[in-house]
Amino acid sequence: PLGFRQTPVDVLLEVEGLSRHFHATEAPAVDRVSLSLGEGELMALLGPSGCGKTTTLRMIGGLEMPDAGSVRLRGRDITRLPVEKRGIGIVFQDYALFPHLSVRDNVKFGLRKLTRAAADARAEEMLALVGLEGLGGRKPHQLSGGQQQRVALARTLAVSPPLVLLDEPFSNLDAAMRVETRQEVRRLLKRIGSAGILVTHDQEEALALADRIAVMEKGRVLQIGTPDEIYRNPATRFVAAFIGRSNIVPGRANGMDVETAFGRLPLSRAANGRVSLAVRPEQIMIEADPTGPAAVVGREFRGHDQLYWVQEGERCLLVISGLGQGQGMGAPIAIGDRVRLRICDCVTPVD
Ligand code: ATP
Repeated sequence: PLGFRQTPVDVLLEVEGLSRHFHATEAPAVDRVSLSLGEGELMALLGPSGCGKTTTLRMIGGLEMPDAGSVRLRGRDITRLPVEKRGIGIVFQDYALFPHLSVRDNVKFGLRKLTRAAADARAEEMLALVGLEGLGGRKPHQLSGGQQQRVALARTLAVSPPLVLLDEPFSNLDAAMRVETRQEVRRLLKRIGSAGILVTHDQEEALALADRIAVMEKGRVLQIGTPDEIYRNPATRFVAAFIGRSNIVPGRANGMDVETAFGRLPLSRAANGRVSLAVRPEQIMIEADPTGPAAVVGREFRGHDQLYWVQEGERCLLVISGLGQGQGMGAPIAIGDRVRLRICDCVTPVD
């Protein structure tokens, strides 16, 4: 299943203390980033715009040289190796297909060492794998954005690279296409056995696709974990807010539980004294109550659930109410309605 390693895997990539400083007067773009990736593993670099994801990826790929730190691939130091000598596949946002070449010739581009017949066979095999059999004779502009993206992927995967770097590869696709294509990409990488590092600022994409996520802010990696670990146990306030849009509420912890404005709650990890707690919006139950202490001040219908912004005293909390809670779809609560909030789950202390 997604996010869980069944067996220990061999280490493919080790990044240690990678740093890049563009402007002496500004903070470094990438600041001592360390991470490791197993053979065949898929990792997402997730964070807001400008946090250093792309620069990190470019340094791993050899498109950018680090000021400090090292990159090792299968135990070999490749920190200073030029991009073409690394044997790493790179898929960019804009696909970078050759417009004058046919789809087939684009896929064959990396296969020049093979005989013509072998290259043709491999290209057809790859086109079939990405669901484009029969379209090899077309030019890139005769394909949709999603199809072009798959050609780019087929071209990269044709040489079975041990590692593929993907920088926001789905950003040119519409929402439905994006969801479909990302699962296809995951399936393809797993099938070929290539590991992947995907840069994205979309938490949903990272959660849906990656075996592990590295969350970045201001050039640093704040937390690395499976989607489940990161979602349930965010290490910091930033991770909690960025993934799952958690609310931050204060409390006084005593070992495995904590006193809060919502009563005494269990903690997901031990803490003591004054703490900030991450409470995910779907952990809060909302019920209409004319004598309730809180009021709905905003709402957003999302189809499968309802978002409410609820003002309680000084605090504004985000609450997500799904079908399972017996509201949301049937009788949504209106803006201005008084409500009562309850938390029936363990909460996480964050730094
Ligand atoms: P986005 O999601 O917007 O692409 P990102 O997380 O990928 O952002 P980077 O593109 O790595 O972030 O940029 C990190 C910081 O480094 C930014 O402040 C950016 O302006 C700066 N930067 C990136 N490349 C260069 C460069 N070639 N020269 C100078 N500054 C750069």
